[in-house]
Amino acid sequence: MATGDELKEALRDSVDRDYTFMHICGTHEAAIARTGLRSVLPEGLKIVMGPGCPVCITPQGEIDAAIEFVDKGCIVATYGDLLRVPGTRGSLESSGGDVRVVQGVHKAVEIAEKTDKEVVFISVGFETTVPTVAATLLTEPPENFSILSCHRLVPPAMKWLLEQGEASLDGFMLPGHVCVVAGYEDYEQFPVPQVVAGFEAEDILLGLLMLVRQVNEGRHEVENAYPRAVNRTGNQKAKKLMYEVFEPADVEWRGFPVIPASGLRLKQEFARYDAKEKFGIEIKHVEKTTGCICDRVLRGIAQPTDCRLYGKVCTPRTPVGPCMVGHEGACKIWSLYHLRR
Ligand code: SF4
Repeated sequence: MATGDELKEALRDSVDRDYTFMHICGTHEAAIARTGLRSVLPEGLKIVMGPGCPVCITPQGEIDAAIEFVDKGCIVATYGDLLRVPGTRGSLESSGGDVRVVQGVHKAVEIAEKTDKEVVFISVGFETTVPTVAATLLTEPPENFSILSCHRLVPPAMKWLLEQGEASLDGFMLPGHVCVVAGYEDYEQFPVPQVVAGFEAEDILLGLLMLVRQVNEGRHEVENAYPRAVNRTGNQKAKKLMYEVFEPADVEWRGFPVIPASGLRLKQEFARYDAKEKFGIEIKHVEKTTGCICDRVLRGIAQPTDCRLYGKVCTPRTPVGPCMVGHEGACKIWSLYHLRR
């Protein structure tokens, strides 16, 4: 691979207009912030974050549902990042119930095996985390175990963003981790430049260079700048597991309306593990009420510093919106690296 300096020079030579590309991955945002990459990009070349943080795009209605399980006396288990995400009645952390941080679904099952109480795992994540959850459910966990599926699929959100056109995007940097599992063939339907990229500064610079070249040459295709980890069809075994247990469903994302087939619900055969069915809980739509602009940040039309609460009322210690909570949230990342633009 070319060195970072060679890639920067090639970018400088190639950029001859304004370009806006979107990445859809919190790990990309963290790498860009950590390496100060935006500050070395040629003028006119912009990379914005999209809905790539699974915790951030979990809508308030799902957080409220998670708290309802607490109210019903369940042990609620989930990833640490989700704990402080605010719903309309506070967060899981402030719920006062038995809420436990686990590293994965298998740990939540272990809790269920050692108690008579109901255990609900709040299962968030993109295509990367779903196969593990599916594999666990296929092992037939105990009857007192169930999940709230908050999973999301990336391509339907990209389709929605492209149809809206509000961010005037020239192309997408595709999420390397998601593509390890899902491959990139599903993205070939989109008539825009796209490049799968890894997570080192050089990977991201190479991805940007390939995107710029596609625009300059009037091409739109999916190219792979991360072949050491990603292939076109992804991990077939993992995908088979996913669709053995889950099926696509129309769901809302935080900052987005209901996007067709963008979520995953349990298939009927696994309904006994569906916490919503088991406890008769519905996910309700919640209108935004605070001054938080996470919705706009997640759609790539605002950056954290555009928010009047950023760094004042809203800090990593006192998060107002989900983008200040999760380690993949743009506001949290920008705050950690003291970014002002
Ligand atoms: Fe929301 Fe806080 Fe980010 Fe503002 S700074 S958009 S309130 S998370």
